[in-house]
Amino acid sequence: MADDTAGSGTVAGKEMERLGDMDAEAFRRHGHALVDWIADYLNRTERYPVLSKNPPGAVRDALPPSPPEKGVPFDAIFRDFERVILPGVTHWNHPGFFAYFAISGAAAGVLAEFLSAALNVQAMLWRTSPAATELEEVTLGWLRQLLGLPDTFEGVIYDTASISSLHALAAARHRAVAGVRTRGLAGRPDVGPLRVYASEQAHSSIDKAIMTLGLGHDALSHVPADDEFRMRPEALREAIAADRAGGVTPLAVVATVGTTSTTSVDPVGPIADICADEGIWLHVDAAYAGVAALVPETRGVLAGCDRADSFVVNPHKWLFTPFDLSAFYCRHMDTLRDAFSLTPDYLQTLEAVEVRNLMDTGVQLGRRFRSLKLWAILRHFGSEGIRDRLAEHMRLARLFAAWVDESRDFERLAPVPFSVVCFRALPAGAAAAPGRAGTDGGASTAGGAADAAVDAAADTLNERLIEAVNATGEVFLSHTRLDGRFTIRLAVGHVRTEERHVRRAWELLDEKLRALR
Ligand SMILES: *Cc1c(COP(=O)(O)O)cnc(C)c1O
Repeated sequence: MADDTAGSGTVAGKEMERLGDMDAEAFRRHGHALVDWIADYLNRTERYPVLSKNPPGAVRDALPPSPPEKGVPFDAIFRDFERVILPGVTHWNHPGFFAYFAISGAAAGVLAEFLSAALNVQAMLWRTSPAATELEEVTLGWLRQLLGLPDTFEGVIYDTASISSLHALAAARHRAVAGVRTRGLAGRPDVGPLRVYASEQAHSSIDKAIMTLGLGHDALSHVPADDEFRMRPEALREAIAADRAGGVTPLAVVATVGTTSTTSVDPVGPIADICADEGIWLHVDAAYAGVAALVPETRGVLAGCDRADSFVVNPHKWLFTPFDLSAFYCRHMDTLRDAFSLTPDYLQTLEAVEVRNLMDTGVQLGRRFRSLKLWAILRHFGSEGIRDRLAEHMRLARLFAAWVDESRDFERLAPVPFSVVCFRALPAGAAAAPGRAGTDGGASTAGGAADAAVDAAADTLNERLIEAVNATGEVFLSHTRLDGRFTIRLAVGHVRTEERHVRRAWELLDEKLRALR
């Protein structure tokens, strides 16, 4: 570790009272230096390789195995942050980050997080910080308006979409299974097998929620998708009918708006019809794509979602809000409160008027003041600023998709409804067949022996291609599998990503492909 840590027990004393915290002057000095560092970081993230070049264990091995006995000044900690920690960081706040779903910790949100850390509010009860409870209500009301969702949707902030969906399914379970709160599920002959339906493209968080809720992974029914990766409503109807005939109780349907692999959109309207007919809870997972409803040309993306029982969208995904912040909306928040509210004596409050206590809407007691950063983002960019940025990301994705479509060396493997492009390079000699990926949508599943041979060669080629491109440190792309084929994904979503970054990704793909072939 840094040289000044050894035998420096008195050094820290210079910026700290013996039994207190850092003194104000020291805080001011370190704080100013830190803000300068962050300002440079946000403006010049590109000087760092986007994907960490560290081998496994590098950070761990550079740190002492046991904690220090004597304190050190913050300078020493910061030097080690730069020397040891930073090389082990993959820079999500980098405009060349195109992997998974690109996210942004935009500057206004970073500043709000700094304030939130300073306040250190724990908003379990209204009185433990009225502002945190009420700002959460106001910002989620704003977001709901921006998305065009009805005001019958009550909102609450969780950390992630995984936890939002867990709560959605917990509420569905509470509604469907009498006495589940008290008697649980185990050893109950009156409760037969239960089922949750989601498309085969749904996010793994749904699987985990089902496991967590004691339903067992087998309770998840993967409904087949069409050739554009959208849930087939007829298949859903058939699966429900077959289950009912076999004595299985349908618990909930999860529709996805913006699936993780291809950003496909399940037909929520027809799915909502089925749920209404059958009396089944409908949860919509719009973690990534929900915000596209702000943009005129994709305004229809949430059609039918007003009929959902619950809905999740992640401002930490494509709304520039620093990780983590997931917005959960529910038309029956009282069902969730019935499932979870439990007030020990020491948390009983005596407010004269009725107030909302956020601890009642879920599993966790303590909650951070997350709405502060969402408030800062919504105000700092304004709806117009957000809309323009999202539209630009979609333009960049379409531009990239056009390059793929025009190229003889690459082919596109899925439609591009938002800001994610799924594609792959073709082995030498295997020309892109226009029939396999239509320009305006169709990813064909046409197979055949010749295609199988191309696919095997393409898998190896694309695995090596993505490794070579990521090793440059200039961009970071990730992959998925579509119809069994290794597929490269380019996800545009960082607030500082410009056309030149997308162009550079394309140049690198082209350059590395030539080298590999
Ligand atoms: C990213 C994503 C999730 C998981 O989000 P977390 O907030 O990390 O839990 C769930 N569903 C979809 C559709 C996603 O895109």
